Amino acid sequence: MKQGVLLRYRQFLPITPKTPMITLGEGDTPLVRSQRLEKEIGCGELYFKLEGCNPTGSFKDRGMVVAVAKAVEGGSRAIMCASTGNTSASAAAYGARFGLETLVIVPRAGIALGKLAQALAYGAKIISIDGSFDDALSLVRALTQRYPITVVNSINPHRIEGQKTAAFEIVDALGDAPDYLFIPVGNAGNITAYWKGFLEYQRAGRSKSTPGMMGFQAEGAAPIVQGRVIEEPRTVASAIRIGNPASWKGAVAARDESGGRIDSVSDEEILSAYRLLGSSEGIFGEPASAASVAGLVKVARQGLELKGKKVVCIITGSGLKDPDTAVEIAQPPAELPADIAAIEKSLGLV
Ligand SMILES: *Cc1c(COP(=O)(O)O)cnc(C)c1O
Repeated sequence: MKQGVLLRYRQFLPITPKTPMITLGEGDTPLVRSQRLEKEIGCGELYFKLEGCNPTGSFKDRGMVVAVAKAVEGGSRAIMCASTGNTSASAAAYGARFGLETLVIVPRAGIALGKLAQALAYGAKIISIDGSFDDALSLVRALTQRYPITVVNSINPHRIEGQKTAAFEIVDALGDAPDYLFIPVGNAGNITAYWKGFLEYQRAGRSKSTPGMMGFQAEGAAPIVQGRVIEEPRTVASAIRIGNPASWKGAVAARDESGGRIDSVSDEEILSAYRLLGSSEGIFGEPASAASVAGLVKVARQGLELKGKKVVCIITGSGLKDPDTAVEIAQPPAELPADIAAIEKSLGLV
C-alpha cells in the first residue's frame, strides 16, 4: 500500500501530533527513462517524472493533501481555490474525502473538460466567472479574508510544502540530484516547491548537489520572461495560462540561486513536444506538461551542453485531462465499413 506524502516525508513537513495523517495515495510517482529523446538530443540520462499518476491526475495532490490536513487540523469547514482546473479537481477530491466543503472559482474560457468533470464528480460548488485565472485568484484572496474559509491555492504555504516532496522522490530514486530539472511554470508554485525540496534535502545530507532549475512558460503567458504582468495570457496549455504568478519571486530565486533559466516556448513547440511524448515515448501528458520537454528540446538546439548530464523533465498532469486538445490536433480515425478487405487495404496489409 502507498504510504502517501504525509507519512513518507513527515520529518520534512509541518506536521504536529494533531495533524490527521490523511492520504488518497498521492506521491511515489514513476520516474521513467527516456527511450528516444535522450539519444536524439545526446544527453547522458533523461527521465520523465510522471505526476499524472497522482490520484486526481496531477502533481497538485501532493500539496493539497498537506493543505487539507492542516485545514482539518485547524478546524476549518470549507476550502476555496481559483483554478485553471487541476487545483480544483484536487481540492474537490480531498475536500470530499475528508469532510470539507469545496468552493471553486474558475475562468469561464478555457478550463479543460476532464478537469471540470472531476470537480463536478467530486461535488464541489463551482462558480465560473467572466474573467481570467488572475481575476479568480484576486476574488478568492478577498473572499477568504472576509469569511472563515481556507484558501488552498499555492499562496497557502502548505501547498508548497507538500509539492517539494517530488524533489525528494527524484533524489531518492537517482541517489543524488540531477544536473538539470525542466518544469513548466504557470503560477510558479511548483518550481518554487521543487527548489525548496532540493535545498532541504541537500542540507539534510541526502544529496550532494542541486540541479539547475529550467522553468518554461508559454510564449503568450510569459510574465516572468518578459518582466511584466500579462493582462490577457494566451496559450493552448491552459494550466499555465497565467499572467501574474503568485510565486513570481520564488521562481526568480530558484532560477538565480540554482544557476538555471526561465524561458518561454511557443504553442507550436509545446504541441510538437506533446506529440513526441505520446508517439515516441508512450507518455500522454497534458499540453502544459509538454512545456518542460519543449524547453529541453529548445535549449538542446541552442547548444546547451547535455553530454553526460542527468536530466529530469516533470510531466505535471495527465493528457486525459484535456481530451479536446488531443483530438483536435490529431488525424481523425479512418472510417470504414466492417469489412476485412477494406481494413486490410487501409492498414496497408495487402
Ligand atoms: C498547475 C499546473 C502547472 C503549473 O504549475 P505552477 O505551480 O502553477 O507553476 C503545470 N502543469 C499542470 C498540469 C498543472 O496542473
